[in-house]
Amino acid sequence: MSDIEEHRKKIEEITLEMIKLLKTRTDIAKQIGDAKASLGMTVTDEEREDALRTQVAKLCKEIDLDQSTASKFLNLLLNESVKVQSDGKQTHLSVFLKAKALEEEGKKIIHLEVGEPDFQPPKEVKTALEEVYDKGYGKYGSAKGITELRTALASKNNIESKENIMICPGARFGVYLAITTLLNPGDEIIVIEPAWPAYKDCALNAGIKVRAIKTTLETQWEPSIEQINNAINENTKMIVLNYPNNPTGQILPDELLEDIIQTAKEHDLYVLSDEIYSEYAVGQSVTSVLEDNYQKSIITKSFSKSHAMTGFRIGYVIAEPSIIEKMSKLQALSLTNVSEPIQYVALQALEADVSGNTEIINSRLEALIKIAKDIGLEFIEPDGAMYLFAKTKYKNFDATKFSEKLLEHGVAIAPGEGFGDYKEFFRITAIDETRLKEGMIILDAILKESYE
Ligand code: PMP
Repeated sequence: MSDIEEHRKKIEEITLEMIKLLKTRTDIAKQIGDAKASLGMTVTDEEREDALRTQVAKLCKEIDLDQSTASKFLNLLLNESVKVQSDGKQTHLSVFLKAKALEEEGKKIIHLEVGEPDFQPPKEVKTALEEVYDKGYGKYGSAKGITELRTALASKNNIESKENIMICPGARFGVYLAITTLLNPGDEIIVIEPAWPAYKDCALNAGIKVRAIKTTLETQWEPSIEQINNAINENTKMIVLNYPNNPTGQILPDELLEDIIQTAKEHDLYVLSDEIYSEYAVGQSVTSVLEDNYQKSIITKSFSKSHAMTGFRIGYVIAEPSIIEKMSKLQALSLTNVSEPIQYVALQALEADVSGNTEIINSRLEALIKIAKDIGLEFIEPDGAMYLFAKTKYKNFDATKFSEKLLEHGVAIAPGEGFGDYKEFFRITAIDETRLKEGMIILDAILKESYE
């Protein structure tokens, strides 16, 4: 056998051996996951992970292996463990699906778990839907979106060029594209928790390690710069911001936002700022990351909340053309283009005055805050978005179990564990006041019945 053949044989053997070891490792991770679940422990243990990382670094020195390669490989392994251990976690989506199934059986459910406005899109949308057939928007189109809509959105956001805008089917797809195309497997991303679960899920799906920063009610859900600095290492490539926040409704003070952007610049990190709730702020304007003019920022926005158009699936991304270029390649590959008739409808929706929607959401939030105070829930009053993230005064309160019980009584809420390590919290959506009151009365009754 030639030398090369012999080496190839060896490589094959080693690779197969590594796959077998991966199977063993995954099986053990599953067992640890079951044990953690029965003990009520969280999936990710940063301390244990860091201890392992230190051992790997030491080994790399001893055997003379490039540390960043080993560290990326380690991140892949850690992600696999997180994936097998995360099965079965309750999120707003899993509760929603259960609630839907109950409705199909004929049960009445009050949906306090959903993340969408329950009112209609503006009437401009109806007119546009009626006229679009004759407008001729029915063919394949550009992956970045129709020029008219990109130009209109550039102008709405005070940006000079449409080249900074890409239309996508909802902000969710923008988040997915940004994480998947700008980062590589083994890279790290910082997510400030509590957080909308998709950031973590997209990262896990792409083999990217999530460094979660845990914020608390006691510190107004604000991360400290120290926490962020401690989470950054040579593999860190992106930090995700989402203000007004889902689920807490908090908006960061401008100085803190500025400090975070500064830290990102120092470490050359992408800043993915999901500003989907920027139109839903209570009595204040929201500072956009756009104002920083940072070359590595990606802003995601959508018609879902501001125009109550969740099912239309239309949103957009604002970023440098070079970033848009990368993201649009995956969009072209996976979708060809966003439905052009829907883009036309969105263009017409921009003509509508949607300030009424903001007012509706604000008055519902006000009502929700009042009821929640009356029944003794603990929370920070939201600055925006459309949710309340609360806990109760009861010790050992388990929001996942509570949400299951509450669903049996016809009220769906989103358990906190879907947003990070927040088993004692739950999220309530500010829906229309009558239904909201009805739901909160049941919630209060079940709470008292279960814990007093
Ligand atoms: N970002 C956040 C923070 C959200 O809460 C949601 C929807 N719940 C989205 C993005 C998704 O929005 P879209 O419908 O535009 O995909």
